[in-house]
Amino acid sequence: MKIASLFSEKTVFSFEIFPPKKTSPIETVYDTLEALQDLKPDFISVTFGAGGSGNGENTLAIARRLKEHYGVLPMAHLPCIHYTKEQIDNILKQFQENGIENVLALRGDRVEGMEPAMDFVHAADLISYIRSFGGFDIAGACYPECHPEAPNMDTDIRHLKEKVDAGASHLITQLFFDNDSFYDFRYRAARAGVNVPIEAGIMPVTNRKQIERMVTMCGASLPRKFTKMVQRFEDNPEALRDAGIAYAIDQIVDLVTDGVDGIHLYTMNNPYVARKISEAVNGIIKAAPKC
Ligand code: FAD
Repeated sequence: MKIASLFSEKTVFSFEIFPPKKTSPIETVYDTLEALQDLKPDFISVTFGAGGSGNGENTLAIARRLKEHYGVLPMAHLPCIHYTKEQIDNILKQFQENGIENVLALRGDRVEGMEPAMDFVHAADLISYIRSFGGFDIAGACYPECHPEAPNMDTDIRHLKEKVDAGASHLITQLFFDNDSFYDFRYRAARAGVNVPIEAGIMPVTNRKQIERMVTMCGASLPRKFTKMVQRFEDNPEALRDAGIAYAIDQIVDLVTDGVDGIHLYTMNNPYVARKISEAVNGIIKAAPKC
């Protein structure tokens, strides 16, 4: 099933997970998959390291297990910056042979000490390549607070439109903690002709280290309400986790009320957190009339 077809029927609720580190066996993630599938998300996406050192074997193995073992619709991420056309061809063939029809096409981040392969410079190049390869539903990434390398939002949105024109049938946002930045972005994207469904990427923040890492990596702005929460509970990990869960639920309720196309939950492979959030929001997501 192609994920794009879901958006006309419902508000989509999906999860994101990552494969275990190369030094850990793949089986270490199976308990997480088992717990997450029980929450019945519309699909689960599986990340793929941009390093080019492997060919996404773990991403494929997890996507396959989701589909075959649990009957969950998988989406495989695919970054292109460090891959040649030949490597991408091989990966796409592997996906097809294993029945993976949904791909999140990404440029990926440059890995220190590695030269980009240069066959695909931007995600739009990969998207049009996958489209001509055929057989896949293709999603793209977008940035409510602007991609860190873009000079400004208008330029970034112009490049986003190129991804949609190349064949992205839906988009998933980078995490954000301020819903107003998402609403502003969505309005500007629509005005620029970006007319595909946009899922809002929500990351429940559950510990201080994670917040610091995320902010350095993606530059998400932190509303006062959020920083106050972190300061208040930073010495009490359980309370900070519960406050982070409540914050994410609050964001989701507001987004669903506003008619968002979908929620993509960055689960960080934490089924406890995913369960708490799903239990709180599943009812309203299902009840939300399609806008
Ligand atoms: P692009 O769309 O190519 O954009 C990157 C930059 O190039 C932007 O500044 C854009 O404005 C600019 N640009 C685009 N086209 C042009 C052009 N024609 N001329 C000049 N500039 C241009 N990374 C991974 O390695 N693995 C993952 O699994 C992964 N999953 C992700 C999931 C989501 C939902 C998101 C939001 C990000 C994910 N990332 C992942 C991170 C992503 O790879 C990085 O954010 C990366 O820096 C940009 O990827 P992109 O696909 O958005 O690139």
